[in-house]
Amino acid sequence: MTVPFAADALPTTAIEKRPLERYVAPAMPSLVGLPRVQLAEALGEAGVPERQRRMRVQQIWHWLYVRGAQDFDAMTTLSKELRQELARRFTLARPDVAAEQISVDGTRKWLIRLPGELADRPHEVECVYIPEADRGTLCISSQVGCTLNCSFCHTGTQRLVRNLTPGEIAGQVVLARDRLGDWQRAASAGSEPEKRLVSNVVMMGMGEPLYNFEAVRDGLAVVADGEGLSISKRRITLSTSGVVPNIARAGNEIGAMLAVSLHAVTDELRNELVPLNRKYPLRELMEACRNYPGLSNARRITFEYVMLKGVNDSAADARALIRLVKGIPAKINLIPFNPWPGSSYQCSDWEQIEKFSEIVFDAGYASPVRTPRGRDILAACGQLKSATEKLSARERLALRAMAMTD
Ligand code: SAH
Ligand code: SF4
Repeated sequence: MTVPFAADALPTTAIEKRPLERYVAPAMPSLVGLPRVQLAEALGEAGVPERQRRMRVQQIWHWLYVRGAQDFDAMTTLSKELRQELARRFTLARPDVAAEQISVDGTRKWLIRLPGELADRPHEVECVYIPEADRGTLCISSQVGCTLNCSFCHTGTQRLVRNLTPGEIAGQVVLARDRLGDWQRAASAGSEPEKRLVSNVVMMGMGEPLYNFEAVRDGLAVVADGEGLSISKRRITLSTSGVVPNIARAGNEIGAMLAVSLHAVTDELRNELVPLNRKYPLRELMEACRNYPGLSNARRITFEYVMLKGVNDSAADARALIRLVKGIPAKINLIPFNPWPGSSYQCSDWEQIEKFSEIVFDAGYASPVRTPRGRDILAACGQLKSATEKLSARERLALRAMAMTD
């Protein structure tokens, strides 16, 4: 088997972090990542008559998502006048990469700046690329920070929150293909999508995707579009902490693979680890999972379970977990806890994780233990949070205080 994901085959230049003061908010809107309907509206604004819009969308779609065009001039199937008119109104800017870090294990983390309410105060999110032997997974964010506050998650301690737009969600895939030099490979992969560097997408970065439902749905539709980025829904996984009312909707309207952050087998413990459980307790969550549209042995739900030493990692917990998921086509993904500065948990001992995994495996469930990747660059699950974001929050408070005393 060829291993296209060997770290040494990828571009090796990292990007030094750009100071916040150098951030310049985009002056014009970008067309990158816009759903087809919005792209057609943008073309309307640029004077493209209605009867031509479908065809023009098709052409631009191809340039953007198959060829990776970064410039209107490259779009040679459009007339020069149209290209000029588009360039007067729009850009093809990707979300702004303010820093790139490369881990010793080949994992890459991008710090992305997005426009904030104040022109010189951008928001920051992170996006992580994880190369493995048989796939390359891009972990993308759905929100700046998270309104929920799971006690073991770094993102949950971040107060500042805004929803990402569909363009910013799909834009993360576009910028990853840019940075990895993946466009040509992606376009020629044909029926072997695993040959692309970015072959899979998981929505497991910052934010709770089901609390930004429409934008996540529309952004992922751009990512999955077979005439564009073409990452099939079977290769897209959406992870939720358990927003029960939106689970069935996710199955019907998004159709991606579902991962559920379970982490505990009793309401008492889950209330503490995933406080959303107080609103949507285990019984309702498991009911929603059983009824997940499209659920089958070929399309299982992944239950994520973070291994916290002495908290949820006993053999009795493992057996209770099996009882809980009984009857649901499921995989169980054990995640070693990734510590972050100030966290109050410890990761379970390795023998304990193995014991737990064995019990689950013996009950007939695949129970891979997720190898932590990119630990040296704080890129592992639940570690995404930017220090500058904290700073901007404080600065914002100071700014507000100043405005109030004016
Ligand atoms: N908000 C969504 C998706 C983002 S978090 C959700 O909670 O599902 C992706 C996964 O990382 C979730 O299963 C989350 O519980 C887990 N996670 C969060 N912090 C972690 C940490 N410090 N160590 C290991 N896993 C963590
Ligand atoms: Fe939000 Fe998910 Fe972190 Fe919980 S684990 S705080 S839902 S990002």
